[in-house]
Amino acid sequence: MRIRRSSFEEWPTLPHIIIVKSGPLNEGRLQMETKRQSRSQKPSDIPAKPEALSRISSFHAHIYYDPRTTRDKAERLRELVAERFLVRNGNWHDAPVGPHPSAMFQISFAKETFPQIVPWLMLNRLGLTILVHPNTDRPRDDHLNHALWMGSVLSLDATHLPETDAPEPPLEPNTQPRISPE
Ligand code: ZN
Repeated sequence: MRIRRSSFEEWPTLPHIIIVKSGPLNEGRLQMETKRQSRSQKPSDIPAKPEALSRISSFHAHIYYDPRTTRDKAERLRELVAERFLVRNGNWHDAPVGPHPSAMFQISFAKETFPQIVPWLMLNRLGLTILVHPNTDRPRDDHLNHALWMGSVLSLDATHLPETDAPEPPLEPNTQPRISPE
């Protein structure tokens, strides 16, 4: 049986015997299977214990925008947040900084604020892309493995993300909320 390259997506459903018998393309398939097996057999893939919540000291929400077209939305969102939540609104970065691929500003907030501000951002992000990540002593995991995204998922520059780092300094809010988010 001849298997065209265009049918590659269907390979996983083909009977095993066909895969084993055909030519060079199958070697790739066999390698994939071998790889998958060895991965599932590695005991280190499943930690003995789940991560403890106490490892999280605070959270960041990074609000991404385009300086030419959506900065006004980011400015409005920042104001709305400042009126409603006790957080630290960070500096404006109109050019990419650190691991972030786009202009953004950062909102730092306490663990206790998460249940209010994250759903509020879900409803009010004005179409902007937002990254929410925990702060532990492992920035790489915080950003790449333990984050949640609203809108598009952007590619972060992992070279700026160390495996371990000193914990975040204590949160110093710079907002004075006066409106309940309801
Ligand atoms: Zn951050």
